[in-house]
Amino acid sequence: MSAEDDEPVNTICPYCGVGCGIKVNQGDDPGDVNFMPWGEAPVNEGRVCIKGGAATQVVDHEDRLTEPLIREDGEFREATWEEAYSRIVSEMEGIRDEHGPDAMGFFGSSKTMNEENYLLQKIARRYGTNNVDNCTRMCHASTVWALRTSLGAGAMTNSMADLEESADVLWIQGANPGEQHPIANSQYFRQAVLEGATVIQVDPHANKTTRSFEIDETERHMHLQLNPGADIPLLNVVLKTILERHEEEPDAGWIDEGFIEERTEGFEDLKETLEDFDKEAAAEEAGVPLEDIELAAEKYAMANNAAIFTGMGMSQHTCGVDNVQNEINLALITGNLGKPGTGVNPLRGQNNVQGTSDVGAMPNVLPGYQLVDDDEARESVEDVWGFEVPDEPGLTNVEISHEAGRSVKGLYVMGENPIMSEPDGNEVEERLRSLDFMVAQDIFMTETAELADVVLPATTWAERGGTVTNTDRRVQRMRGAEKVHENTKHDLDILMEVGSRLFSEDEFRFDDVEAVFEELREVCPIYHGMTYDALGETGIQWPCYEEGDEGDQYLYADSFDTESGLGQIEGVRHQPPAEVPDEEYPLILTTARLEEHYNTGTMSRRSPTLSRQHPENFVDVHPNDAEEYGIEDGDMVTLRSRRGEIEVKAQVTEDIKEGVVWTTPHFAASSANRLTNDVLDERAKIPEYKAAAADIAVT
Ligand code: SF4
Repeated sequence: MSAEDDEPVNTICPYCGVGCGIKVNQGDDPGDVNFMPWGEAPVNEGRVCIKGGAATQVVDHEDRLTEPLIREDGEFREATWEEAYSRIVSEMEGIRDEHGPDAMGFFGSSKTMNEENYLLQKIARRYGTNNVDNCTRMCHASTVWALRTSLGAGAMTNSMADLEESADVLWIQGANPGEQHPIANSQYFRQAVLEGATVIQVDPHANKTTRSFEIDETERHMHLQLNPGADIPLLNVVLKTILERHEEEPDAGWIDEGFIEERTEGFEDLKETLEDFDKEAAAEEAGVPLEDIELAAEKYAMANNAAIFTGMGMSQHTCGVDNVQNEINLALITGNLGKPGTGVNPLRGQNNVQGTSDVGAMPNVLPGYQLVDDDEARESVEDVWGFEVPDEPGLTNVEISHEAGRSVKGLYVMGENPIMSEPDGNEVEERLRSLDFMVAQDIFMTETAELADVVLPATTWAERGGTVTNTDRRVQRMRGAEKVHENTKHDLDILMEVGSRLFSEDEFRFDDVEAVFEELREVCPIYHGMTYDALGETGIQWPCYEEGDEGDQYLYADSFDTESGLGQIEGVRHQPPAEVPDEEYPLILTTARLEEHYNTGTMSRRSPTLSRQHPENFVDVHPNDAEEYGIEDGDMVTLRSRRGEIEVKAQVTEDIKEGVVWTTPHFAASSANRLTNDVLDERAKIPEYKAAAADIAVT
C-alpha cells in the first residue's frame, strides 16, 4: 500500500454497487484521511455522487469501536483480544457440542470484501453447517434465482458500458438509479438517453430517476406508475400485447422468431398462460391505463436493442422470482439477450453485493454458485479445503433470525445489522435477545451489536485491502491507508485467528489477503483466471475461467448456461402480496432508500454531509389520502402495520399513488422495517419488503 510513502491510494467507494473508483489521501496522522477523485477510475472516470465524496467522513468518527468488548453481568466491559477470542472459541465449541453445528448461524456482509466473506463461509462449513448467508438475500435473492435457473448466471447479463453505445430503450422496473445508483444514472443512462434511448420507468413512486430524465414531461419517455405488487399483471399485458400484435403483423418484428426457435424453450407455455388473459382487468389491477402499457410494449418490442434494469421493487416480493422471470420472458421472446445494449440487469445495492454471493456466503451454494447438494461440485471444493462440507442447504438469514433462540443458539455477525435490515425488526430484536451467544464484528456499535456478547472492533473500508465485485460483475481491488486505531483489526485477520483457534492454522492462516484470493480462485471457477496482478487498476468482469481471459462485458453471446443451453421461458400468473389493504389497515406501505443514506444508516447517519440532507425519516402521502386522514404537509404522523408503529413526518406529494404510503429503512427509531412483513418468496426466501397493509394517523 502506498500510504507508506504518503501517496493517495486507489480504492473503491464503499457504498453502492456501481463500484466507482476513488482515491483516499493519507494525511500526516492515521486518522487524517480524505477523499480525492480518481480521474482514470475505470467505472466512473473521477465522477462521484454525494455519498462517494463523503465516504471518508466516517473513518475517524468519534463513535468508532476501538477495543474488544465482552458482556459481563449484562454490561459491556473492555477486554483484550485474547479474552475475546477465547470466549468466542469456547462458546462456539460449547454450542456445537451441546446442540450440533446447525445451532450456529453466520452472517456475511456486502459491506465487507470477497476474501473476508470467503473466509467466513469457510469457517461456517468447517464448523459443520451451511447456515451462512448475507444481505443479498434481502435485495436480489429472487433475481439471482430466476437469472441462474433461466439463463445460467445470477448476475447482470450486460454492462453499464454497453448501454451508451447500443441501447435504444432502457426499461427500468422497480429500480431508481437516480437515487440509488447515481453515477450509473448520470453517466451511463444519461449518455444512452443523449444518444437517443427512450426510458420506460415502471414504479409506484415518481422519484429522482423520473425527474432526471423529465420522464413525466415528455412524450418520448414513459412512467408507468403501477400499484405495488402488480408487476406480473403489468408485464403480462406487455407480453400479451406483443403476442397479439405479432399475430396481426407477423413480419413487423414484434417478436424474434429465429431467436425463440434456436435459443429458447418454453414459448408454448407462455402462450398458454396468456391465452385467456384479460388485459383490461390486469391493467386495472396494475392501476395503469391499458393504452399506456400497450404503448410501452410497442416501444420495447420495436427497439433494435432494449435493456431491462431491475431492482428491489421487483425482487422484494413473495412472487419475486416470478417477477424477474417475466422480465426474462420479455427479453427472450424479443431476442434482447446475448448482445450489447440488451439483457436483464439487476442494479445491486452495495459495493460488494455481487461478490458476497460469488464467493459462497450463501446457504445453498459454494464459491462460484456451485450447489452444496451437487456431489461433484462439492467434492471438488472439499479436495482443496481438506474437509467435508454438509450436503444439505442451510438456513437463510431471515430463517436464522426466525430460529434464533429456538434451534439456532449462536450467531456470528460480520458487518450486518439485522435488527434494522430485516423485516419485522421488533420480532428480530426479540429473537436475537433470546440467543445464547452472539458475536458482532463491526466498526460502530450498531443496533444489533448492542445485543451481542462479544463485540470486535474492525477497521473500515479505507484502512484495508481486498477485492469487491460491482453490479456488472467487475472484480476490483481496494487498497487501504493506515489504520486509525491501533487496537482495531482487519476483518480478515480476525477471521484467520478465529478459524485457526477453532480448527487449524493450516486451514485458516494465510500470509496476506492476496493468498486468500489465490485459494478463492482455486475453488471458484468464474474467478479462476484472475490474479491480483491481472486485476490491476481496471478489474475484470467475470466469468474469467483461465489466466489471460479478459472477462465478459455481456453474457450468452452463443448459448445460455442452462442444462440444455437454451434460455428458459416460463409463463407466470399474478399472485397478490401476502397482505392486502383491509378495513383495519387500508393503505399499502412500500419502502425504498434515499440517495444520501445507505441501508441501515450505520455509516451515513454519522456522516455530517449526508445526514444534513436527511436528518430524519419521513413518509410520502398522496394529497387525497392526506385530506381523508386530516394530514397536513409536515405533520408528525403515526404509521402502523400489524407488526409495529413508527412516528415520522408526513410529506404530502403526488409523487406517490393514492392509497400507497412510502417510507425508508435508514433511521433507527423510525425504520420502515419495524413495519414490513417477513413473509418470504418460497424459493428464494426473500422477504416482501415492498408491500404491507398499513394505517396512518396524525400523532
Ligand atoms: Fe459510490 Fe455508488 Fe455514488 Fe459511485 S454512485 S460514488 S459507487 S455511492
